[in-house]
Amino acid sequence: MKLNATVEKVVGPEKKVILADGEEIHYEYLMSTMPLDLFTQRVEGLSSETIQTAQGLKHSSTNVVGIGLKGKPKESLKTMCWMYFPEYNSPYYRVTVFSNYSPNNVPDINQHWSLMTETSESSAKPVNRETLIDDTIRALIEDQLIESADDVISTFHMAFDYGYPTPSVERDSILKAVLPQLEPFGIYSRGRFGAWKYEVSNQDHSLMQGVEWANRVAANVPELTMPFPETANAMWGK
Ligand SMILES: Cc1cc2nc3c(=O)[nH]c(=O)nc-3n(C[C@H](O)[C@H](O)[C@H](O)COP(=O)(O)OP(=O)(O)OC[C@H]3O[C@@H](n4cnc5c(N)ncnc54)[C@H](O)[C@@H]3O)c2cc1C
Repeated sequence: MKLNATVEKVVGPEKKVILADGEEIHYEYLMSTMPLDLFTQRVEGLSSETIQTAQGLKHSSTNVVGIGLKGKPKESLKTMCWMYFPEYNSPYYRVTVFSNYSPNNVPDINQHWSLMTETSESSAKPVNRETLIDDTIRALIEDQLIESADDVISTFHMAFDYGYPTPSVERDSILKAVLPQLEPFGIYSRGRFGAWKYEVSNQDHSLMQGVEWANRVAANVPELTMPFPETANAMWGK
């Protein structure tokens, strides 16, 4: 097993992965979970038209803000996991009571608690990253999740460029044009941004895409989740 190694290039016709440190790894089958648009740029052997087509895939970004607080959450938040906020007053669409997941998420659970917020961002929904933490705290007070900014003892912000794969109108035709071009090189693109299927891109779905791909390669069992998201979702719902 090799972790924390950047893939620089994949030489498709030679079925060879080249890492950033120059190491070369030969494969028979390769599953990539890199964002498909970026991945195609690293595959030698693909036509420039295919690479160009893949760049049409759209995504949105996510800003994760962590808020460390002194004291304890109010009664109604004590058993809360996450909550959605579609209203205009808040930059975030979701708030998680992070310290409810583990006491180890804060220095001392008897004196501290914490919230995690997620704020989506795209060209259609710009976010002022400079003011995001202040905007978040203001909205948390308005939404009555925290009482006062004086309770905030630490803040954290991380922006994930690839947050959500957008199921745009052209997405399916792009996938139909790009994914088959990888298969002659033994390459299969799967996972949240590998397959770009918003409807099967949660963690559980992404894992199942990997399991099903391995079953396909090893035992010739047809995949379900990636090619037939609606059927997979209908089955998992039962
Ligand atoms: C803010 C946020 C909140 C989420 N909340 C939930 C949730 O509550 N429930 C849920 O089910 N899912 C949630 N998800 C989604 C979940 O994280 C994904 O479904 C899951 O991680 C997808 O797994 P994956 O293996 O397809 O892709 P990833 O986990 O994105 O793995 C892709 C990997 O490729 C690596 N990579 C990229 N480029 C290279 C390169 N050149 N060389 C080597 N490696 C490279 C990346 O470092 C990364 O490790 C959330 C995602 C985000 C961003």
